[in-house]
Amino acid sequence: MKTTLSIIKADIGSVGGHIAPSRQLFSVVKEYVEDASRGVVNDVFISSTGDDIALLISHQQGVLNEQVHKLAWDAFLEGTKRAKQQGLYGAGQDLLKDAFTGNVKGMGPAVAEIEFEERPNEPFLMFAADKTDPGAYNLPVYLAFADPMYNSGLILAPKMEKGFKFTIMDVSYTEGDRVIELNTPEDIYDIAALLRDNQRFVVESIHSREDGEQVVSVSTTRLHNIAGKYTGKDDPVMLVRVQGSFPATGEVLAPFSICHYVAGFMRGSHTGPLMPVKRNSTISFFDGPPIVSCMAFCVHNGKLTHPADAFDHPFWDYVRDKASRKAYEIREQGFSGAAMLPYSELEYGGIVKKMEKLEPQFEVRQ
Ligand code: MG
Repeated sequence: MKTTLSIIKADIGSVGGHIAPSRQLFSVVKEYVEDASRGVVNDVFISSTGDDIALLISHQQGVLNEQVHKLAWDAFLEGTKRAKQQGLYGAGQDLLKDAFTGNVKGMGPAVAEIEFEERPNEPFLMFAADKTDPGAYNLPVYLAFADPMYNSGLILAPKMEKGFKFTIMDVSYTEGDRVIELNTPEDIYDIAALLRDNQRFVVESIHSREDGEQVVSVSTTRLHNIAGKYTGKDDPVMLVRVQGSFPATGEVLAPFSICHYVAGFMRGSHTGPLMPVKRNSTISFFDGPPIVSCMAFCVHNGKLTHPADAFDHPFWDYVRDKASRKAYEIREQGFSGAAMLPYSELEYGGIVKKMEKLEPQFEVRQ
């Protein structure tokens, strides 16, 4: 019998701006899911990262399952009611459609799912990022799966010798899912050429070439492609199975020590370092910096173990200091150049209006 892990995540309201969901909102969603999921799914875990609430659901219904997605959607609707009662900021902001239609893809919430036959031991990682977009995972997964400087298993573990298949999506294409499959190690230059553009090309999934098993699933939603305007950052989630013929947990975590600069931060319009944080961390400086949390689980017969918090370790305090320094350094230059996203990515309409107003004032000197 196959197990499916589904992470479904949404921002449905937060307290004091973009800081975190209110305690009451979190409990309402938790109680609803625990109640409604009994007998329907195997297990549920709920957590928050910044202003987002993520549900990790273990079940046997496969990916894009209507019942499972409806459970999450209804929980977010129930939470939105409470968010509105409390006057929370951005109540229901990621629920972009009125009626549920089969699954939550294209409706606002972020989704990452993998269906697999459980190994005798089945460790996996659940990542949730806030104040950034799905391309934030491009560099860490490239390094964790294709670069022996970060993944020593590519040299030391025979089961990884054959490499991995990357499925990469062109997220600027809105007519459907435009994807390409490329293999490591032979295609790494092509993979790098695509993944350098975090706003357009996003790793959707990775499969082992040793056994064909899916190792990674990333949510690829771009909210402004759905809503046609800025509604919030896409705040991606990711599932990564680890150990055995896959990278070790530490090999997947290692690239997050770079705190690479990603899109997001204040008003989803800036560049900031991705800071690895502990579970249930809030958002603060300049509505950021962009953050990522990681819960490490095992699943057995569909039951989730209580997770370990992968970034709750003294090493990551040092890394967080580095991220703070990098955040401060780029913030010193305010709106100038690389600190703010290019015009094509600026998600607030204000700048577009401003340019339209200024346009007729330009003169061409002869
Ligand atoms: Mg968010």
